Amino acid sequence: MRNILCNILNPVSADRIEFLPRHVISIEQGIIQSIIPAEAQELTDVEDFSDCLALPGFIDLHVHLSQYRMRGLYEPALLPWLNKYVFPEEARSAETGYATDLAKQFYQALCQAGTTTSIIYTAPSEAACEAAFAVAEEIGIRAMIGMTMMDQNSPAGLVQSTTKSLDTSFALYERWHGKNPLLDYIFTPRFAPTCSMELMKEVSRFAYDHNSWIQTHLSENTDELAWVKDLFGLNSYTEVYEKAGLLTPHSIFGHAIHLTNIELSMLKANEAKLAHCPDSNFYLKSGEYPMQRILEAGIEFGLGSDVGAGTTLNMLHHAKMMNFRQSSLSVMPANALYHITLGSARLLGMESRIGSINAGKDADIVLLKPPVGYPISEQSLSQLVFFGNEFEVKHTMVAGRVVHNQTD
Ligand SMILES: [Zn+2]
Repeated sequence: MRNILCNILNPVSADRIEFLPRHVISIEQGIIQSIIPAEAQELTDVEDFSDCLALPGFIDLHVHLSQYRMRGLYEPALLPWLNKYVFPEEARSAETGYATDLAKQFYQALCQAGTTTSIIYTAPSEAACEAAFAVAEEIGIRAMIGMTMMDQNSPAGLVQSTTKSLDTSFALYERWHGKNPLLDYIFTPRFAPTCSMELMKEVSRFAYDHNSWIQTHLSENTDELAWVKDLFGLNSYTEVYEKAGLLTPHSIFGHAIHLTNIELSMLKANEAKLAHCPDSNFYLKSGEYPMQRILEAGIEFGLGSDVGAGTTLNMLHHAKMMNFRQSSLSVMPANALYHITLGSARLLGMESRIGSINAGKDADIVLLKPPVGYPISEQSLSQLVFFGNEFEVKHTMVAGRVVHNQTD
């Protein structure tokens, strides 16, 4: 049993975070047993984190593990950036040694940033995805991981035949689904231009039969939209995925920027989910996420770092960008934090286990220390969202297992 004295910021709803100063969180066998005011009990065997805020571990809904080392390499639009930097770097992960070292570095950075759950794309090779799973299991990360699928319009070294891409994905699913309670497979067609209709339909068929998750990119950049129109000739980008059968309640679409109201209705009707990646969208000058319209349409979304087009794994940075990348909509701190915690847990159907600090949930917890001169109070929430990078991540745990511990 661990007893941790700390100050809790706990998401309750999309616009409310509860502040619980000086409470003791008791954890046993990875599960939160109780949360009790410090004054209400005898303090024995208590670890003193009273100078820290405790939050549920952060959730990153969209991140490319195999792009971690090419962050910050700039090309001012999606398609040239992919060709110049992303594809050559992803090709390197076909080598198991490289992919394993990279996965270790990536997860260590995630844990240091307080992220405990990630929805991950790996490079399009079995070795890259297998290494990502193996290292995640060793460290104790919570994640859904998928091998990026590309069977057309892709460079040599990355492109796979339709059969090979499908068979490898199915084999990875069979190997990792249900093996470890923290890990699952997610089918990952990269985006419509590099995926044949046949491949997408087969993914849809398998995912439907197995009730499994799917992720891809949707409507990020206007040149990409024109390319999709040329390739598939349908009325809209979203219609391509609808025709392929990829619009499901277990599908997460990254970006979703240039969408018509008809497309929003299609996404809503199918209960599809979105990963909003504000840092990436302005790095590549893709455009502004139509948040007001998406809220009005009632489509669920959470935040993604989209590393490597996003520049950091720190989800507090992306919470700030959720506000900064809206030209007129003000996103309140509680709402931004919700989208990297409880909101994303709900979206993933994992609310009973993660997303907030409550008795009975898994102990996915991050402890953060404010900078000198900023005493802990109800105002810490707003400070955390707007200069979270200055808070020290002292301690991160996933299902009670310590995955990061900063010793001074
Ligand atoms: Zn992405």
